[in-house]
Amino acid sequence: MSIQITLLSAVDRVTGACTLVEAGSSRVLVDLGLIQGDHDPPPDNTKLPVDRLDWLDGVILTHAHIDHCGRMPMLARHGYQGSIFTSSPTADLLDTVWTASARVQRRLHYGPITGDMDRPPMLYDQPEVNATLDSVVPIPWHQEIAITPNIQMTLIPSGHVLGAASVLLHCQDQQRSRRILISGDIGPTHSSPIPPPHAPPDADLVIMECTRGDIDTHQTKTPLESLNTCIRHAHASKQIILAPVFALGRTQSLLHRLAQLDAVDPLNMPIVLDSKAGAQLTSIHTRHMHELSDDAQQLIQQGLDPLRPPSLQIARSKQEARFIRDLTGPALVMAGHGFAEGGAILSHLKKWLPSPRARIALVGFMHPQSLGGRLAQDPPRVRIDGRWHEVQASIDQLEGFSGHADASGLQSWLEAMPSARPLVCLHHGDAEPRRTFAGRLQNAGWEVCLPAQGEPLEL
Ligand SMILES: [Zn+2]
Repeated sequence: MSIQITLLSAVDRVTGACTLVEAGSSRVLVDLGLIQGDHDPPPDNTKLPVDRLDWLDGVILTHAHIDHCGRMPMLARHGYQGSIFTSSPTADLLDTVWTASARVQRRLHYGPITGDMDRPPMLYDQPEVNATLDSVVPIPWHQEIAITPNIQMTLIPSGHVLGAASVLLHCQDQQRSRRILISGDIGPTHSSPIPPPHAPPDADLVIMECTRGDIDTHQTKTPLESLNTCIRHAHASKQIILAPVFALGRTQSLLHRLAQLDAVDPLNMPIVLDSKAGAQLTSIHTRHMHELSDDAQQLIQQGLDPLRPPSLQIARSKQEARFIRDLTGPALVMAGHGFAEGGAILSHLKKWLPSPRARIALVGFMHPQSLGGRLAQDPPRVRIDGRWHEVQASIDQLEGFSGHADASGLQSWLEAMPSARPLVCLHHGDAEPRRTFAGRLQNAGWEVCLPAQGEPLEL
């Protein structure tokens, strides 16, 4: 009988978040995300990281990004009968996120494949999505809920995307009582339309993300200034702006900044959102307007929709998106995937990259190995789906749009803890950011540990 924590994934990588917390005879899992990206060997998402689901007393979800929730519908397929606890906004987002994930899996599994590529497996389909949605239990912010007599949980807003939470677990065994804080993804201090993270409560151990632990942004422009500059250039050169965006987070950040700009000076260009999931997730934000930032509330008070610039057009299907082929600049088209690794943005990029009549707006962090990351280097040409494409389009990197705090933001979040100086355990960061951020915290006097995947940490 003891209190112990095991990182089951997201060690030296930024996807596949999954942490097991055990106290006495109680066990909870926090997050069960999809492992994504290029890895050698390739990630195996088919195997759940826990052998016996009947041992679990509960599952907790920090937020609705696929790298945190993308494997949860597998629980229904493997017979999990318990609850999934999360914030109320996250609970509302999950139907769209999981349904879109099942749709992508069906397309990849049953669609055409090239060369000797293996057909990707179906991890789950719509029936498992529906069954898993039935087990989701929304929890109010800052309210302690008992999962078992040994483990109580509290959700604290983490400022990353709508509904994103840090989780405080109050654990007891026969001898001791420990408070474990799992940060989830932490948003920056000056973000919008999601307000900044709340100060973390005191804890004995913090399991903390460090996605941008090696980056200190020195912003020269505000998000509004950098977006405004991009739009003015597009107007002057009659260019079409292409913005790769994630359906949850960047879509709403960009729409919000566009609405803010338009409120001051009309944009006078079509804004197109080519994403069914992006449109659905944005409309769910409107059910949770009270969760949005002061900037967003100001627009609401002026009678404006903070996530809908007046010239917005939405394409929810390939058929509805046909008109985009005939668009000429100035115009702005947003589409997924956020790192330009797939999705509708690829066909727009293939068409427009060779043209000087296009601008590519890179909104926030781009993983260096992704197409978005390669475009950030302003290359003369890029390879997409095995073919080279010349790059004549202008490349703009828009500042201030990241949904993740940078290194100083992460440290400030930790230092906002009222009085405790807990042990800090880093995960959810590539190897280099993890090591760099560990060094930074140690230099500031924090005790830091970097456990290996599967290595239990006893408290
Ligand atoms: Zn996230």
